[in-house]
Order: sequence, then structure tokens, then C-alpha cells
Amino acid sequence: MNAGTISFLRQVYREYYFRRARSIEFPRDVHTREFGYIPFGGGMVRHLSFRSGGEAVAEILKQSPSSVYCSNARYESPAAPIEEKGWLGAELIFDIDATDIPTPCKKGHDLWYCEKCLSSGRLPRPSNCLKCGGPAVEFHGTCEVCMAAAKEHALRVVDFLTEDFGVTLRAITIFFSGNRGYHLQVSDERFYLLDQLGRAEVADYMTGTSLPPSTTIASTLRRRHADAGPQGKGWSRRINGYVEGKREEYPGTMQRLASDAVASQRAMIDSSVTTDIHRVFRLAGTLHGNTGMCKMRVESVDRFDSQRDPVVLSAKPVAIKADFYPRFMVNGVEFGPFKSQMVELPTYAAVSILTRGLGEVA
Ligand SMILES: [Zn+2]
Ligand SMILES: [Zn+2]
Repeated sequence: MNAGTISFLRQVYREYYFRRARSIEFPRDVHTREFGYIPFGGGMVRHLSFRSGGEAVAEILKQSPSSVYCSNARYESPAAPIEEKGWLGAELIFDIDATDIPTPCKKGHDLWYCEKCLSSGRLPRPSNCLKCGGPAVEFHGTCEVCMAAAKEHALRVVDFLTEDFGVTLRAITIFFSGNRGYHLQVSDERFYLLDQLGRAEVADYMTGTSLPPSTTIASTLRRRHADAGPQGKGWSRRINGYVEGKREEYPGTMQRLASDAVASQRAMIDSSVTTDIHRVFRLAGTLHGNTGMCKMRVESVDRFDSQRDPVVLSAKPVAIKADFYPRFMVNGVEFGPFKSQMVELPTYAAVSILTRGLGEVA
């Protein structure tokens, strides 16, 4: 990324923060949170703290960074090194990313390309470019199918939280992540003091990694046979519902039925995010460093359009030299594919290419 591109991106992001500083959503007790950011063309800066949202906004405007983060944890001394921060608890968080959900369309939009000669091909990525031996890197695209899958998994997390953990809907906030997924934040005091192991149990339960013995497939089926009563709760209900639908013609074994029942209903969350009690998480209302889209609160999951609603940068045309970029859709418009060419694009589309280092401002 050359100096001209860095200064262009900072300018674009600064304009957004100047216009829309009020859409940044700070958590309660701002002074107890750790903040961090990644400047364009630079590395992560962490262990910052601000006395108020206003003070944080001033710094965001000054830096106009590529990404802004804030801890879900509260600390006595948020700017101190991790061991000395004095952890006071943290909201429970979830990260759902379409990249981790195996959708059949990935073959069509995920690929590798060579950083040297720009040739490309289907995954799996070879260790070196097949043409010139240069470095091959993966490129993950996205599409409506992937984004619908991410939405579906976000709703599964909501279902687990409300049905199995008794969390009220009001305590759950859903955000679009700014890229390929959703973030959920739970403001329920029962989870605040949960340590890493406790959070891992919650994550494992939702991913179906470790089911409690009472909900193994055998015990679920046994109970169903014994009293044919109500469908039970939690995973029992989910497994029963699945088995009910498959009763007529199921070709597989019991083992297979069990794993199918779980696989079709687990929530594919990134467990490392939920279990990390010292995480800094993208701040709501700020721009994603790779897309220029906004991490924003989702009021109605059904109506939310992840390809249009989070597009907040202008359509002002900018001329760039694109080295390489597959076809992509944003704001209802299709762009690309591009390979070593000059092209004029709306700012909101150019940003994706520039931030990934796949083009420079002309
Ligand atoms: Zn090559
Ligand atoms: Zn897809």
C-alpha cells in the first residue's frame, strides 16, 4: 500500500467519522474498557483507555484508522498490561463468520491467487504458484447464499440463548460485523463473571461439541419411546424434531442420525472469540478495515440486507489501478473481475480492493 493510497483511505474514513460520529455505539462504563486500533499500513495498537465516548471519538477522528476495537471486558486499569488490568467481568459475545460455514457456493467464489504474477485458481491453495512459484494466497469471496447461512446461524445462537439459557430477547444485541458475518452481544449479568472455561462450555454446547449425557441420541430416543410425551428441551427437543422429520426413510446408522441431527442444528460460532475474556472486539458504528462497511446494529434480522444496509461510504468515483480482484457485488451493483487494469469505481467499492493491497489509487 503506497503513501497515496494510505492517505486516500484515511481521508475517506475520516470523512465518515466526521459525518457520523454519533452512530458509534459505546458500551456502558467507557472508562473501564480497553480500546485498540489498526492504522492503515500499520500494526495493532492496544491498551488504550478513554474517560468518555467523546474523548474516544476525538482520537478516532485524529487517527482515522482502518479498524477500531473495544474490550467486552471491564477493567480497573484498562490501559495496564493484561496481568495488571484488574478484570471486572465481561459481556458474553459471539462471532459468526460465513467463511467458517461450509456452503456449496464457496467453490465459485473462494480462490487462490499469486501475489507475483497474479495467476489464480480454485482452492485448495497450492503451497506456491503453479505458474511462477511465487507466493499463493487465499481469497475468500461472499455471496447471498453465504450471507443467508451466516444469518441463519446467528438466529440459532439467539435460539440457544433464549430457549436453553433463559436470556431475554432484550438482552441480546445483533450486529452485522462489517464483513461476512454477525456479532452478538449479551447483556445478562449471569454471564459477566464467567471465566474462560465457563464460556468454553457455553460455546461447546452451542456447537454441539460436547453434549450433556442426558441429550445423547440414545437417551433422547429411549425417552421418546418410553413416553412419547412432549419433545423435551434444549438439544433433546432439537434432536427429536430432526428424528421426527426423518422417521419414514432414514438410510443411515444411529451414529449417523445422531451426527446429522447435531450438524443440522448447531451454531457455527468462532469459539475462540466467545472464550477470550480479554478480547478487543470491533466497536459498533465503526468501519471494517477490509470493506469500508459499517459494523452496525441489526434491528430486524429478517429485513436486514448485508449487501446494502452497511454501505455508508460515498459513491464518489475514484480512479484506481487494480492488480487483481474477482467479481463482487456491493450495494446491489456488480464489479469486476479486474486484472492489472485502470478502473474508475465508486468509493464504497474501491475501498475493498485498496484495503486488501490489491490496487493503488491512480
Ligand atoms: Zn505466479
Ligand atoms: Zn457463497
